[in-house]
Amino acid sequence: MSVLMDGKALAAKMREKIRIQAAQYAETNGAIGLAVVLVGENPASQVYVRNKIKACEEVGIRSYSYHLPADVSETAVLALIDELVASEQVHGILVQLPLPAHLDERKILRRIPPQKDVDGFCAENVGNLAMNRDTIVACTPFGVMKLLEEYGIDPKGKSAVVLGRSNIVGKPMAMLLLNADATVTVCHSKTKNLKEICASADILVVAIGRAKFVTADMVKPGAVVIDVGMDRDENGKLCGDVDFEQVQDKASFITPVPGGVGPMTITMLLYNTVQTAMRG
Ligand code: NAP
Repeated sequence: MSVLMDGKALAAKMREKIRIQAAQYAETNGAIGLAVVLVGENPASQVYVRNKIKACEEVGIRSYSYHLPADVSETAVLALIDELVASEQVHGILVQLPLPAHLDERKILRRIPPQKDVDGFCAENVGNLAMNRDTIVACTPFGVMKLLEEYGIDPKGKSAVVLGRSNIVGKPMAMLLLNADATVTVCHSKTKNLKEICASADILVVAIGRAKFVTADMVKPGAVVIDVGMDRDENGKLCGDVDFEQVQDKASFITPVPGGVGPMTITMLLYNTVQTAMRG
């Protein structure tokens, strides 16, 4: 039987520390501020934004929320970002993705300077991560590293396999594990011998968006299995990319879905917002 890696408990512990840091900062500098920009009516995005704003409130970070209509012009979005960049009350800027198709996502994200890029998506922050320099790191993979640390799992010298190569999860995850001295293999939809590669991993991180894709035969006995996926099973129930029922007896440590990586993502957003404020 594996140890469950409780992201909810770690998130609560970290948020308490963040609350204290935010209060200390506010005593001399005023409240830390996070601007959240939402464009259009995507229901999932609305839920994510609501959760982020609520989480900010709980730790004493002031949130500035902007909900723009789906047909807003690119010029108007860029003008808002420029305003937020100039504001001394705003320490971090988050643009909720995806954006409607008529907006140039890359152009809009590039307008956020690295110092206010709380998502860690901009080229400078990604470049710093690639060069193993102190920087703002993408929230989800950063949360995974905190979970590994909490459970005393040191990636050094271990074989780590990352399944998925997206810019927001897979790639930064691979870089973080490499920076932590793991030997890293990144797999994707064109990878051959996927099963064998996964089954060679001491640490397997799965982020592909395919419900229950990773089965017991893809897992090495005693491996650490991190499930980033947030999917729906055949009954519409929330599940991960890993077949939890099958894999839990084979892994040494495993994250549940929900309650594993998910709660860590917003926590790392709060963490990054405090970092951007303290870096000035
Ligand atoms: P994404 O941008 O769609 O990327 C998926 C990646 O998985 C791609 O690199 C793709 O390969 C690879 N892939 C897809 N099917 C595959 C297969 N059958 N075999 C091997 N590789 C395959 O997804 P994402 O944004 O990284 O998200 C991944 C999952 O994590 C989703 O379920 C998402 O909801 C979840 N997520 C959760 C959190 C959280 O807070 N818990 C945060 C972010 C994302 P190619 O590059 O070759 O196409």
